[in-house]
Amino acid sequence: MLQLFEKAKQTPHKTAIVAGGNHYSYQTLLEKSEQISSFLLGEGQDLSQERVAFMVAPGFDYVAVQWGIWRAGGIAVPLCISYPFPSLQYVIEDTQSKFLIVGPEYESILQPYRNHSETKFIALGEMQNRKEKPLPEIGKNRGAMILYTSGTTSLPKGVLTTHANLESQISTLVKAWAWSSEDYILELLPLHHVHGIINVLCCALWSGATVEFLNPFDAKQVFEIFEGGKLNVFMAVPTIYYKLISAFESYSPERQAELKKCMESFRLMISGSAALPVSVMEKWKEISGHYLLERYGMTEIGMAVSNPYDGERRAGHIGQPLSGVELCLLDEEGKLVNPGEPGEIHIKGPSVFKEYWGKPEATQKSFTSDGWFKTGDIAVLDDGYYRILGRDSIDIIKSGGYKISALEIEEVLRKHPSIKDCGVIGIPNEEWGELVVAALVTSEKIDLEQLSTWMRERMPAYKTPRRYLVLEELPRNAMGKVTKNELKKLF
Ligand code: ATP
Ligand code: MG
Repeated sequence: MLQLFEKAKQTPHKTAIVAGGNHYSYQTLLEKSEQISSFLLGEGQDLSQERVAFMVAPGFDYVAVQWGIWRAGGIAVPLCISYPFPSLQYVIEDTQSKFLIVGPEYESILQPYRNHSETKFIALGEMQNRKEKPLPEIGKNRGAMILYTSGTTSLPKGVLTTHANLESQISTLVKAWAWSSEDYILELLPLHHVHGIINVLCCALWSGATVEFLNPFDAKQVFEIFEGGKLNVFMAVPTIYYKLISAFESYSPERQAELKKCMESFRLMISGSAALPVSVMEKWKEISGHYLLERYGMTEIGMAVSNPYDGERRAGHIGQPLSGVELCLLDEEGKLVNPGEPGEIHIKGPSVFKEYWGKPEATQKSFTSDGWFKTGDIAVLDDGYYRILGRDSIDIIKSGGYKISALEIEEVLRKHPSIKDCGVIGIPNEEWGELVVAALVTSEKIDLEQLSTWMRERMPAYKTPRRYLVLEELPRNAMGKVTKNELKKLF
């Protein structure tokens, strides 16, 4: 990530970070991260490729620690600040982290690591006043970060990316989405995933822009920050847009008009990490005046497909491959599908990760013999724009010889006036292989017989859910993705 630090040196006096009411310049960030590097190098002598886990609240210290690890040659392992102890332990042990840097808020939960034989506990406050150490040279193909996948389909896997991978992921987005030093973005996403770390933080800081932190998410505060008039770029996951829309709808017409006015000055609003329902995209356009730009990516590949910055942003579609990304859709035999037919997305390019940490077999299985990464996501190309049908393992329901996209059924269900949220899955069934069923969150009591009829008027009968379950809320993970394996248990 050498380029990131070299770029920061070019705008030393600009504000890099706004957090907790304080402003921090690029110079301050460079100095603080260097202090952290010196500390780590003093502790570890040769830090090269050692994993350094850290649990630090979103804000200036988080970034300084991440940069400090990179500049010292370590592999950064950011921990999720809302995880319970066993999930943290899983990551720390799976990565065999040599150091664990802990912000004051998290000292008690990580107490068991105070006197650990393998992992050294370092309180954030300790990391100062250490003699300056020369920073090592770091080869681009060395490991830079291990991020864990969201755990939507199975246990989270550690994804090792190199400095070259990350630089490629960042520079691609900076170009595609026209980042500049004039930009000002709000960071409210979890900082143990690509979306928050790469798309928001790294792209902004690579460009000399400013990042303001808000944690935890609060819709009312988001709108207050919008009213401050500084932001011009915003990125979030679909559930956050959904929550913002609900908050907006609770405001008076006067306040709504004011908010609408202040959103005019944004140049870009993006959604990703999960499918953006067409209804959310349409509603957001209505309240903000902006077509959300939907993109598609994964921990393993960074961002791969994006709707255009200039040009039509098509609802329900993820757009076209980003520059430098090679994409093809293959069928189960590994053959290219015919135009208009569904296939699994395969990706090649410099952004693609190096390996699943400590899982050589999983790594090998996830690539074809000629080096394409198998994403497990099924898509179709409609008239120049890719559309996701879902994950092969959970969203593509195999029923009565058909392959049915859960996402397509969810889109139709969401059009029902009483349905607020829904998740469609297949459950094992002797007769059909799998049976299509749906979990619903409704705004009022709903007659399920009538709903079945309503669905059959809109979809072929074989696609319509055979059973419905009404829930208070759908189970979701930290990225706001519906955890369909949990849903299956409920059925
Ligand atoms: P795990 O791999 O542990 O099951 P995960 O795949 O959810 O979890 P991530 O790497 O965070 O972990 O998420 C990548 C996945 O998110 C993609 O494979 C895809 O299924 C989904 N995704 C991302 N963007 C979109 C989008 N715009 N539309 C639909 N799905 C998306
Ligand atoms: Mg995945």
